[in-house]
Amino acid sequence: MKPAGIYIHIPFCRSRCSYCDFATGMYSADLAERYVLSLAKEIATFEPPANEPEVDTIYFGGGTPSLLTPGQLETLLNAVHQRFAISATPEVTIEINPGSAALETLRIVRGLGFNRASFGVQTFDDQELARLGRSHGAEDARRTFRHLRNSGWDNVSFDLIAGLPGQTMAGWRRNLDEAFELRPEHLSFYLLEVHQGTPLATHIKNGLQPKPDEDLAAEMYEVMLDRAAAAGYEHYEISNLCLPGLHSRHNSKYWTAAPYYGFGCSAHSYDGELRRWANERGVVQYMEMIEVGRSVIVDETRLSAADRQAEAVFLGLRMMQGFSFAEYRNTFGADLREKYEQDLTRFREAGLIECNDDLLKLTRAGALLSNEVFAAFV
Ligand code: SF4
Repeated sequence: MKPAGIYIHIPFCRSRCSYCDFATGMYSADLAERYVLSLAKEIATFEPPANEPEVDTIYFGGGTPSLLTPGQLETLLNAVHQRFAISATPEVTIEINPGSAALETLRIVRGLGFNRASFGVQTFDDQELARLGRSHGAEDARRTFRHLRNSGWDNVSFDLIAGLPGQTMAGWRRNLDEAFELRPEHLSFYLLEVHQGTPLATHIKNGLQPKPDEDLAAEMYEVMLDRAAAAGYEHYEISNLCLPGLHSRHNSKYWTAAPYYGFGCSAHSYDGELRRWANERGVVQYMEMIEVGRSVIVDETRLSAADRQAEAVFLGLRMMQGFSFAEYRNTFGADLREKYEQDLTRFREAGLIECNDDLLKLTRAGALLSNEVFAAFV
């Protein structure tokens, strides 16, 4: 069994961004305190899977985990350490919202054992940030990055979003100039998705904001990858870049069928074999269920052999290094080339994939149209 990851969901934010459809709500100190107690109880009473593996990554995501106090973060880390066998060199990540953590707080949090920080810059353009309803400005992001460096964080990731309403290629190039000048160890890069029911979707529908230009966003993706390669970054996953060797060990578990256990409302888990499950999404409902000793699992899936084979391909293909035909044969006793011969031929002719003797890989064009490729394997 591969080592496992732990994900802890902190569902609080200071305000709601206009494009967000995550399970998160408004922060209040009382709610956060009650939620941390519930989380600690859920972790302590987690039922061990058979042959429970060692844990080598812990990830605090949200929401905005940096809204918790250092004492609350420590409570949760202690709960994880008491319940699980942790490797000697775990990757321990916390997501931080720019402007939400002071220098001294970052220093204390680093001292608790967190060794990787991830924060959502999204863009260095204040007007674009305002249109997204983000609570921070570009200067907050720059200051947060400086604070992280000055308080000992040497593994920092940040996110950028391309294809924002009204964003130009010139504006995008300015974002990239600034991002690569800061030189974080890791960069995540997303094309804006407009989710139904979000304020952004309503603004676009009512003509208050321009519709994102998908062709321009695709060009932005290409420009980003060229700049990243020139700056020495490795494009290791469709949406992720890193300096050599500094990929996200935690997120890589999601693409390589490793086990991960999620805690908190809306958290998802996988036992690394046949079982996936998901927790109650509502914060208050989640806490009430924990407080009366009820299970918070509201959805559970047993994977069939066909499900596992399909997942292995469409998750594994997210990794730009490619997916091994031999590994597929060894794991599932089937020949991937034969099974999907027609689809593989079609995608190769369309320039979406490349194959050699052992590897099946997405091309850059394939990475942009990955959902079309993945659909063939589902
Ligand atoms: S900070 Fe992140 S989780 Fe919170 S509202 Fe904005 S996009 Fe959503």
